[in-house]
Amino acid sequence: MEAHPTEEPSMRALMLTGDRTSVVRRVPRPVPAPDEVLVRVTSSAVCGSDLPHYRKPAAELDNRLHTVPGHEAVGVIAAAAASGTGPAEGTRVIVYQHSGCDECVFCRSGEPMFCADRRTLGNHRGGADAEYVTAPTTGVLPVPDDVSDGLATLIACNFGTAYSAVRKSGVGVGDRVAVFGLGPVGCSVVALAVAAGAEVYAVDPIEGRRDLAKTLGAVVVDPLGQDPVATVAAVTEGRGPEIVFECSANPTAQAQVMKLARPHGTVVLLGANNSMEIDPGVDVIRKELRVLGSWVFTQPEFPAVLRAARGLPALAHLLAPPFPADQAAEALAAADAGHVGKVLIDWS
Ligand SMILES: [Zn+2]
Ligand SMILES: [Zn+2]
Repeated sequence: MEAHPTEEPSMRALMLTGDRTSVVRRVPRPVPAPDEVLVRVTSSAVCGSDLPHYRKPAAELDNRLHTVPGHEAVGVIAAAAASGTGPAEGTRVIVYQHSGCDECVFCRSGEPMFCADRRTLGNHRGGADAEYVTAPTTGVLPVPDDVSDGLATLIACNFGTAYSAVRKSGVGVGDRVAVFGLGPVGCSVVALAVAAGAEVYAVDPIEGRRDLAKTLGAVVVDPLGQDPVATVAAVTEGRGPEIVFECSANPTAQAQVMKLARPHGTVVLLGANNSMEIDPGVDVIRKELRVLGSWVFTQPEFPAVLRAARGLPALAHLLAPPFPADQAAEALAAADAGHVGKVLIDWS
């Protein structure tokens, strides 16, 4: 826990209060360490990975009961680092969600998420759903002016995650791709796979999310109305698509993607926060399947993430009007209810 001396200025912040409740209240403004910057947050967003914590009773929230949530932040440097390193005051930045020791092989290669001393915004550090957040100088990524706050917030987690996963998958022109789960990550995967020249089948039980995926160029499947495995297999010679992305973290969908994958196919797992059951012999070994995990973009990938996002004007369809900061609790509730598109919070 970072220190919150009572004499420091305060700020508005969203706080989890347990059992699908949250509240915006005034808390002490975080104080940056000498090698950290203070960021005035202009936009944050709710992530699917926030929701399992939002749903917990207060007694199970542990440190998250007293820590500002959120790990997707865009803002402006309000105070440069006292150490004299890092970006200057006034620089517009994305705050990278993980930081580390700055010394190990992973930190030095821009992959602090693998650091043994990983600290994540909204969990081990005060998070993004507030007017101010602190970050190490190595954990802020300058953003060009022509990238809107909404798009930059989408890039900070969901689009960056989708970019890294699509890149790892090797998807190419003429491939068939299935995407299960059409939240902002799944829809970003759809947009990138369509742009790569793939034929994309997109699966989600929520009609508005399917409509969004259709706008992005996918053929859509309602898994409650049709068996998605049989439906997609029927249009891929009965064998299944070359690549399947699992973005829902729904146990039924997780089982379905393993059944749908073709021999020599690729399954990319993006939906986290629960366990899944597989039969290694049937689902993986005898199909000689390639199963990939993909977590978050690395810092060296960031320039390419930005280029990809700026080349996809259709991503604007994912950006619903932001919730004002005073209604941040409603933003969380909307995300929990399966909101269509990215749930943004305006702290400007
Ligand atoms: Zn996220
Ligand atoms: Zn490290």
